[in-house]
Amino acid sequence: MSGFVRTVTGDVAPEALGLTLMHEHLLCDVSAPGLRDRPSEPIRIEDAQRLRFTWGVDHPGHHRLDDLDVIAGELCAFADAGGGSVVELTVRGIAPNPRGLRRLAERTGVQIIAGCGWYVEEYAGALIADADVDVLTGRFVADLETGIDDTTVRAGLIGEIGCSWPLSEREVRVLRAAARAQHATGAALTIHPGRAAEAPFEILGIVADEGGTPERAIICHLDRTLFRRDDVFRLADTGCGLEWDFFGIDGGHYPFAPIDLPHDGERLDVILALANRGHRSQLLVSHDICTQTRLRVLGGHGYAHLLTSGVDYMRAKGFPDNLIDALLRDNPARYLVRQR
Ligand SMILES: [Zn+2]
Repeated sequence: MSGFVRTVTGDVAPEALGLTLMHEHLLCDVSAPGLRDRPSEPIRIEDAQRLRFTWGVDHPGHHRLDDLDVIAGELCAFADAGGGSVVELTVRGIAPNPRGLRRLAERTGVQIIAGCGWYVEEYAGALIADADVDVLTGRFVADLETGIDDTTVRAGLIGEIGCSWPLSEREVRVLRAAARAQHATGAALTIHPGRAAEAPFEILGIVADEGGTPERAIICHLDRTLFRRDDVFRLADTGCGLEWDFFGIDGGHYPFAPIDLPHDGERLDVILALANRGHRSQLLVSHDICTQTRLRVLGGHGYAHLLTSGVDYMRAKGFPDNLIDALLRDNPARYLVRQR
């Protein structure tokens, strides 16, 4: 494969990525806006399972990852399990820390590919204010080519771009700018869709309108967005990337919408059905860790779950080796690679 992948410590060949997680958070603060200013309260191991199950949205600091020593240890467990690279998608509005990501990569040897952009209106709307699409496009290109905000740490892809349902006017501006920046740079574009079955289709329409490439766009969080096989197949037919990134969450409870989340077995069933329908090259998986109780230090599954448990589950379900390789190595490399 020709081209390069841009990590927070420099550009590498796509073959150098190894086993790759496509959607994670290492340093972030996704606390509800009312909890942003509250210091993190300690979590006792006795309470960890309840917070994991309920998502602990009322516990100050549960949705905040800010301890570099802890996260370095979690990344080392991923590397020990054979992991090579992590895509980190903490964007403006949920406390991105590009310098911290570079320190983590240097300390652990795990390659980190940083995203760039803005999260949903509720978190990032005020940061966008009246910036027009041209200004926002310039910010994206600068993040990718010179450094994120005031750092020299460069992003390796665009996103996760936060979209609500219905889309807010500011979110549409960001999405249009993201598509234009994709057109200009060839970077992959990953999008957090609104919680509605029609949301991914509306988003891809806007991306195409602005000259973006739906084939280089990834729709994340399908775990909580599309529940009917017909809708999944219809989205697959657009050619976009299809991401199940809640691996490891095995409780059905979801605090942000009246739905039941699937478990890992159900995620794998729909992925296998898509592969058998000819969509192997579009499929992506990850954990989207953004809470403390999903970390190993609090008894959670951690960043190694897909490697230490997921691959065995895939084999038990009859996944061929070339599908497992596609999910964890080949597809991430193909989406992340750019040409000079
Ligand atoms: Zn995410």
